[in-house]
Amino acid sequence: MVSDLKLQLIAIDGPVAVGKSSVGQLLARRLGFSFFDTGLMYRAFTWKVLKSSISPGDEKALSQLASVTRFDFTPRQEGHFLPFIDGEDVSSHLACPEIEEKVSIVSKVAGVRQVMVSEQRSLARQGKIIMAGRDIGTVVLPQAELKVFLIASVKERANRRYKELLKRGEKVDYNVTLAGLKRRDDNDRHRSVSPLKPATDAIIIDTDKLSLQQVVDKIYALAVNQ
Ligand code: C5P
Repeated sequence: MVSDLKLQLIAIDGPVAVGKSSVGQLLARRLGFSFFDTGLMYRAFTWKVLKSSISPGDEKALSQLASVTRFDFTPRQEGHFLPFIDGEDVSSHLACPEIEEKVSIVSKVAGVRQVMVSEQRSLARQGKIIMAGRDIGTVVLPQAELKVFLIASVKERANRRYKELLKRGEKVDYNVTLAGLKRRDDNDRHRSVSPLKPATDAIIIDTDKLSLQQVVDKIYALAVNQ
């Protein structure tokens, strides 16, 4: 833990399965920061949408639903936050294929994003936090002192996600994993509101040939040299 850092906010953005969450958690532990993966909020809200009778394409109804949804951030081990939705812990459902398929459609909606961004900014007010997502450096926390944008080839990311799913004991097909990842990337990159892109002052790290630990080391060095 580094106690004399002036740095308060670190943004880690990047595409699907680039390692934002694994890197963010390890880095947070090393720096004594909290960590929050904003993707979990979009996933939790999509879980709620799928349980309702609302179509994921009905933007007006989605915005209305988001405006009456309560999010709480519950600290788990070592300052890692999980989002509860309407008081419920839905974390065990968030990696399911139905959510994977619909989350980037739900996330396109401006009214939904407004609610998420406002909640994420409130959480960040506590300081000493690393947030991971798609729009943290560009929209949620443009004032973050350190912004990192992770990249890796589609093949490498699909491989990482495929292995992760196998490890979890899920029945997966590599080509289905690859296609899902490409579809989600495409939606996230080409939406009109807060598309996935690096902030102009973000440091881009290509993780293709780096281990998880090497990526953490690189960002750690940037953080302590701020
Ligand atoms: O990071 P993760 O893959 O869990 O994110 C799930 C989806 O949530 C993304 O594909 C994206 O559509 C959406 N998302 C977003 N903005 C964020 C975080 C996630 O639009 N800050």
